[in-house]
Amino acid sequence: PAFSTIALKPALLENLATMGYESMTPIQAMSLPAILNGEDVIGQGKTGSGKTAAFGLGLLNKLEVKRFCIQSVVLCPTRELADQVAKEIRTLARGIHNIKVLTLCGGVPMGPQIGSLEHGAHIIVGTPGRIIDHLERGRLALENVTTLILDEADRMLEMGFQPSLDAIMEHIPRERQTLLFSATFPKQIQTIAEQIMFKPVICKV
Ligand code: AMP
Repeated sequence: PAFSTIALKPALLENLATMGYESMTPIQAMSLPAILNGEDVIGQGKTGSGKTAAFGLGLLNKLEVKRFCIQSVVLCPTRELADQVAKEIRTLARGIHNIKVLTLCGGVPMGPQIGSLEHGAHIIVGTPGRIIDHLERGRLALENVTTLILDEADRMLEMGFQPSLDAIMEHIPRERQTLLFSATFPKQIQTIAEQIMFKPVICKV
C-alpha cells in the first residue's frame, strides 16, 4: 500500500515522494497504522525490512518542533546501528525544518557530546551505556520524552544492556509510547515487553 493511505503529515509524505519511497514494506504496512494511532508496538524487524522508517516516521509525525526538548529516544545495540538510524531519521525529516537529532554512543569522546547536549535536541539516538552515563551525570533530561524506541532489542539484551535499559526506564515518563523492534523473540524479550509496554500491538511479518 502507498504511504498516502496513512495519516502522515503532508511534509513527511512529500519528502517520502522525493526520497523515492512509494509503497510501504510489509512491516511498515502492518505497524504504521498502530504507531500513528499512538499505540505501543512490537515489531519483527530485521535489517532491510524498513523498520527504521516505520519507527522514524512514527516519532517524526508526532514531534513538536517548536518545543525544543528531547521528545524521542532511540536505543540501539551498537554505534554503527545508531549512526545508520540517525542518518535515516535526518533524511526522513528533511521536509520539516530545524529538527535536531543527536547521537550519543560509547567509544567516542565525551567532550563533544557534552557540548551538543548543552545545545539541545529533539531526538536522541544512542547506545544504552553512554545514555545512562549522561543521565547519571545530570547532563541529559528525559522527562519530556513521549516516544521510546528499542531497536534490535534482542541484540541489546545479548550484549548485556539489560541493567542499563532498566536504569534508563527510571528516567523516562511512564506515560509514553514504546516501540520495540527485534529480529527474534526469546523469553527475555517477552519479559521486558511486559515490564515496559502497555497492551502492545504485535506485528510479525
Ligand atoms: P532498514 O530495514 O530500516 O534498515 O531499511 C532498509 C533499507 O530500505 C533502507 O536503506 C531504507 O532507506 C530502505 N527503505 C525503507 N523503507 C522503504 C520503502 N517504503 N521504500 C523504499 N525503500 C525503503
